[in-house]
Amino acid sequence: MIELLPPWRDRSLDDVLTICRETVEDTDFPTVARWRAAGGKVLGHFQVYFPEEIADAAGMLPFKMRGAPIEATKAESHFGSYLCSILKTSLELVLSGRVELDLFVTHPICDAARNLAGVCGRNTSYPCQILYLPQNPTSAHSAIYLRDEYDRLRDLVGAIAGHRVSDNALRASMTVFNRNRALLRELYALKRNEPWRLPVDEAWVLTALGGLITREEHNEILAWLMPRLAARDRRPQDRIRVVFEGGFCEQPPLDLLRAIARSCYVVDDDLLIGLRWLLEDVPTAGDPLRALAGAYIDGSAHSPVQHDTRKPKERMLLERIEAAKAQAAIVTSAKMCEPGLEEQVVYTRALDGAGIAYFVSEFEENMSSFEHLEIQLETFVENLLYE
Ligand code: SF4
Repeated sequence: MIELLPPWRDRSLDDVLTICRETVEDTDFPTVARWRAAGGKVLGHFQVYFPEEIADAAGMLPFKMRGAPIEATKAESHFGSYLCSILKTSLELVLSGRVELDLFVTHPICDAARNLAGVCGRNTSYPCQILYLPQNPTSAHSAIYLRDEYDRLRDLVGAIAGHRVSDNALRASMTVFNRNRALLRELYALKRNEPWRLPVDEAWVLTALGGLITREEHNEILAWLMPRLAARDRRPQDRIRVVFEGGFCEQPPLDLLRAIARSCYVVDDDLLIGLRWLLEDVPTAGDPLRALAGAYIDGSAHSPVQHDTRKPKERMLLERIEAAKAQAAIVTSAKMCEPGLEEQVVYTRALDGAGIAYFVSEFEENMSSFEHLEIQLETFVENLLYE
């Protein structure tokens, strides 16, 4: 295993959390540079979900492209001003040379994200592709279709890696990723059950870290952290429990999450949901690509960019609130995000119907002033606490 993080094993819990945060906040993505310096190849994949096992099985680093709080000086001219920020900053990472890739894959989650493959491909020397996840997961043929689409991806990745990705290599990667998802479920259970020990900003950092290092290393650091986080000497405070909805694609700034954590316990959320998309272990027996496809179709979370009539978004939000024993919701969206803004209407109507209080807002990944929003949120919380 190539270690991409700075040495952390003999450090204190606080030191290790600082290493994780600094790694995630570093907009030069040093872990990707270290991987390349060791001779490794990198597959950059845009939000939301990507079957990273296929890249891992090929020996490539799957790098989650979730934008960055940077100025999109080079990328700005390639897009209209009315588009969300993550598109531009993800392209900026590539055009500015902050990250060097060997393959870029995006998805038709919205018109803008689909076009990213074309724009990226015209300006880089490596392949930029679209992975067509099924638009209608309830169709009888969707799992077979997706299995074949994953097979196409396997061939593409194999050609770049220089060898065919075998079923056995896929199974080995699926075992590592199953362990990773189990650890993330543990992390979220701690945040849900004892949120005073794990605020939302720290949970976000620890989740995001997985998109920057190998999952083996991520598993190792999460397994080290979990018992220490659970044993933290912290007392519960008088804060309301909320669910944060709207972080499925572009990510809110870390300082915004920190500001929210000062007045609320965020007990569940859809932040970086793609890294937690598959809800249970994927079976490693049989055809691994079929198993991965089946898990995407029948064993996955929900987000505004997957249209599955078995999972109406408003019902899923209400279920998430109920399961997390939350008292209220923060319903938010990235600026200019069509799928996110569309769902806000549906969400607020459902919350009104269920009599659940909610706070509506918008964010942008590189916003830097939160004072106004923090005051509004504090007022919202006080109204709930003292009503
Ligand atoms: S933030 Fe919204 S509009 Fe932007 S790429 Fe993601 S889904 Fe598309």
